Parts: sequence; structure tokens; C-alpha cells
Amino acid sequence: MDFRFSPEHDQIRETVRRHAEAELAPLVRAAEEIESFPRHIFRRWGELGLLGVRYPEADGGAGFDKIADCIVREELSRVCQAFASSWSAHSHLGLWPIWRAGTPDQKARFFRPGLKGERVAGFALSEPDGGSDIRSMRTKAEKVDGGYRINGSKLYITNSPMADFLVLAARTRAELTSDAISLFVVGLPNPGVIVSKLDKEGIRASETGLIHLDDVFVPDDCLLGGSEGTYPVILDSLLENRVGVAANCLGMARAALAASLSYARDRQVRGQPIGRFQAIAHKLADMAADIEAANWLVYYGAWRVDQGTIDAATAAKVKLIASETAVRVSEAAIRIHGGAGIMREYPVGRIHRDALVYVIGEGTSEIQRNLIARGLGI
Ligand SMILES: Cc1cc2nc3c(=O)[nH]c(=O)nc-3n(C[C@H](O)[C@H](O)[C@H](O)COP(=O)(O)OP(=O)(O)OC[C@H]3O[C@@H](n4cnc5c(N)ncnc54)[C@H](O)[C@@H]3O)c2cc1C
Repeated sequence: MDFRFSPEHDQIRETVRRHAEAELAPLVRAAEEIESFPRHIFRRWGELGLLGVRYPEADGGAGFDKIADCIVREELSRVCQAFASSWSAHSHLGLWPIWRAGTPDQKARFFRPGLKGERVAGFALSEPDGGSDIRSMRTKAEKVDGGYRINGSKLYITNSPMADFLVLAARTRAELTSDAISLFVVGLPNPGVIVSKLDKEGIRASETGLIHLDDVFVPDDCLLGGSEGTYPVILDSLLENRVGVAANCLGMARAALAASLSYARDRQVRGQPIGRFQAIAHKLADMAADIEAANWLVYYGAWRVDQGTIDAATAAKVKLIASETAVRVSEAAIRIHGGAGIMREYPVGRIHRDALVYVIGEGTSEIQRNLIARGLGI
């Protein structure tokens, strides 16, 4: 395989890196302290074309590929995973199903304004009774005259406390089969939809909510694509997004290594920089080797998405390796920093807390292993 980044990819990386360092980095500390996402960033991302990187120009996007999408994620996550998580929940999880399966009217009302950052999206799949087992979903949408009545709860939904609409999964038939699950685009605020913001240890500057749906009426034109049984759209979206969030993990791991290198050069113990101690140098070497391996796996996964050949087991391997790498590397970064690693003045504690979110979100590491094992035929 002859893989290299194109000059366009390099240009995108440069643009996003400049934006993230100049415009996002100064906001991180305060946003994390008050656990609130600075909403105006969505408009700015819209102006920069960063919300539609991966969508065709004909649909209002920038027309780039999955590799470019991963570059954007990696660069945003290097500066702040919480901001990158909100980007991902909007730009991929919220908008992708509408782009893929929405009616022209749904695209005009939700997808296009979403690309400009005028309307913020969330994706509501997980429920209090289980996030790993999608098919046991309890939220129900009952057909009534002119629309549906939705009852149920959704848990850990990124962006929901600030979202203008949710792409929400509900059961449209009683039996526990996957084709009984459908997607709805639910505008907010909506009588009957109550969103409570959750307190979190990780990605604090990304807003996450618990949603109660109490007899929520949505008209027929809110059923995604105008037809029931859109579970395959969810599966396709999650498959592709596993490669995407792996790029987020790569960005976090790179940030942890960069902070550790800088600390290991500056911190003097016994009259020498701690990087000269072999124990520290070996940790840094392991971190760099892990990151190199994750890097090639992530961009191989992105290339497979672009070729249309990605499969569940491959996406699971990419996500498993990259997320576990981010956790390992950020933990090593804390150890290298000693006591400073526990202080908020340094970024490595935050990166580690944020990395832990990604061995859970988008399918836990155990679920990724199940998918990989299934691919092995067991
Ligand atoms: C910060 C954050 C943001 C999130 N954002 C969103 C969002 O925007 N939209 C959304 O829909 N969801 C979101 N989620 C939910 C996330 O996808 C779920 O938390 C995740 O899928 C795990 O589900 P659970 O928390 O219910 O854990 P559970 O399913 O209860 O799992 C608990 C434990 O059991 C293990 N386990 C479960 N089933 C199996 C099995 N079959 N084999 C082996 N082990 C198993 C799990 O690996 C885990 O260790 C978010 C989560 C977090 C933490």
C-alpha cells in the first residue's frame, strides 16, 4: 500500500492546528472549570468549514475524505478533547444520519444549518438500562394520528443540554428485533423533553445530559427518511465513527507525549533533566512507539472507510488500540510529571480523565473485543 498524506491533507492539518492553538487553547481552562461548552465555537467552526469536512460539496460540505476528518479530530483533540467530543457528537453523530438517510426537507431544516453551526445537534441512542446493548432499547415511539408519541429516557447524551435538535432512536415496534428501531429528528425545546445536565470527571467542557421523554409528540415529518426501521443507519454511523474517535484518541496521546517531553527536558532532579534517567526515557520511548502504531492503524482505518471496505472487526481494532493507547500514554505522562501530573496547571491529568471516556463511549473496549472475536468466527 502506498499511503501518504496529500498536500491538501497537510494544509487542513495546518489550518486546524493554527485555529486550535490560537482560538481554542485560551478557552480550555475556564470552560473546564465551569463545565460549559463555549457555544459560539460552533459558529466559528461553521465559518471555517470544519463541521462539514467530510460531506460532499453538493450537500454543502467541504468535500474531503475520512482521512481529512481524522486529521481535524486529531488536531482538535490535541488541544481539548471536550471540545472535540462536542464537535464529533454534532458533526458526525448528529448530522451524518440526516445526510445519509434524511428527506430533502430534513436536510434543509437540520443538516444545512448544522453545517453552518447555526443549529447544534446531539445523537440520543444510549439509555439508563444499557448503552452496550442497543437492541434492548426501551424508548418507544407509538404511531398516532399525524405523527408519533415518544416515551422513554436517554442517558449520557453529548451536547443535549445545549442542542437545538436531537437525532433520537426509539422502538417503533414491540419485538426485540433491530428493524423495530427507528430514528427521529426532534427539535428542541419541545414540551415533554426534559434535559438534565450531568456532572462529569472527563470531557468536562463538553455538555452531557440525561433526557426524559414524556409523551412527546413529533409530527410524521420528524421520522428520519420518512420510513421506520433505520437501525442499519445507526450501525453504519457507529462503524465509521469508531475510526473517527480513534483519531481523537491519537490526538490526546500526542498531547500527553508532547507535555511529557517538555517536562522531562525542563524538570531537574539531582542536577539533571529527568529525561536523562533511563526509566523516564524508556517511558517516553514506549509512548512514542505506541503512538506510532496507533497513528498508522487510525489512518489505515480512515483509508478503508474511504475505499468503502471498512468492516466491523477492523473498525473495532482501530478504536480499541487507539483508545487504550491514549489511556496508557496519558497515565505514563502523569507518572513522568510526578506531583505536577496531579495539578490542574498541567494538562496531563485532564488528558487522562478524557482518555478514559473513550474506552467507554462509542462502545466499550469489551464490546470492541466482542466484535473482533466475532470477526475471528468465534
Ligand atoms: C461522556 C460520555 C458521553 C457519551 N455520549 C453519548 C452520546 O452522545 N450519545 C449516546 O447515545 N451515548 C453516549 N454515551 C454513552 C456510551 O456510548 C455508553 O456509556 C457506552 O456505550 C456504555 O454503555 P453503559 O454506560 O450503559 O455501560 P453498560 O452497557 O452498562 O456496560 C457496563 C460494563 O459491562 C460491560 N459489558 C456490557 N455488555 C457486555 C458484553 N456483551 N460483553 C462484555 N462486556 C459487556 C461493558 O464493557 C462495561 O464494562 C456517552 C458516554 C459518556 C461516558
